[in-house]
Amino acid sequence: MTEEEIITAVEVTGGSSDDGKQFKELLNQTLSAGIEVQEVIGDTAYSSKDNLAEMKSKKIQPVVPLNPVVHNGGLRQEGFEYNKDADFVICPAGQHSIRKAVQGSKQNGKSRSLVFYFDTEKCKTCPFREGCFKPGAKSKTYSIRIMAEHYIEQIEFENSDTFKERIRRRPIIEHKNAELKRYHGMTKAKYRGLFRMRMQAILTAFVVNAKRIVTLIEKMQPAS
Ligand code: SF4
Repeated sequence: MTEEEIITAVEVTGGSSDDGKQFKELLNQTLSAGIEVQEVIGDTAYSSKDNLAEMKSKKIQPVVPLNPVVHNGGLRQEGFEYNKDADFVICPAGQHSIRKAVQGSKQNGKSRSLVFYFDTEKCKTCPFREGCFKPGAKSKTYSIRIMAEHYIEQIEFENSDTFKERIRRRPIIEHKNAELKRYHGMTKAKYRGLFRMRMQAILTAFVVNAKRIVTLIEKMQPAS
């Protein structure tokens, strides 16, 4: 949907499909309708690496909050905290990591990790060692996945005033969804099957757009 609330693309899927995977198709439909896209505002479902790369390749600014897992550098063991400024990890017992290594290579395209090492002498007598440190283990480590470049860029953008200002526009799509459901029967599939559901969705979007265009034209008329 454009900011003027004109629906530009419709994709119909089964209920179990991932919204984010429909992004490329929705963007292609929008572009082939002749609409110039400079920015995409969406929820976390659209923040996958592929979607961000697609937007980047088309010089589109993603105003899409990243999944919190990305912010945390992947799923992590509970109770461990990474201190970004000091570049160490504190474990649940309050022990600071004593050294760090980078695992994986930038060249082979696989994701890399920061591996933090803890002092095993302290782990041996730690009251929290159960499930954390195996007796006899030579090392105790904790890994954090290093994020791909476009995530780093996106995290920086997410902290900017521009992002905070623009993301406020996101709820307008929810108002449109509510309009489609409340006044145009989109709470129910009228017919069976995705093809028929698609027809219902496209025709409904057409009607809602026509109404919106009339409203916009009326707003543009000079007051008499
Ligand atoms: S076992 Fe070691 S790493 Fe785990 S909580 Fe205790 S001191 Fe920290």
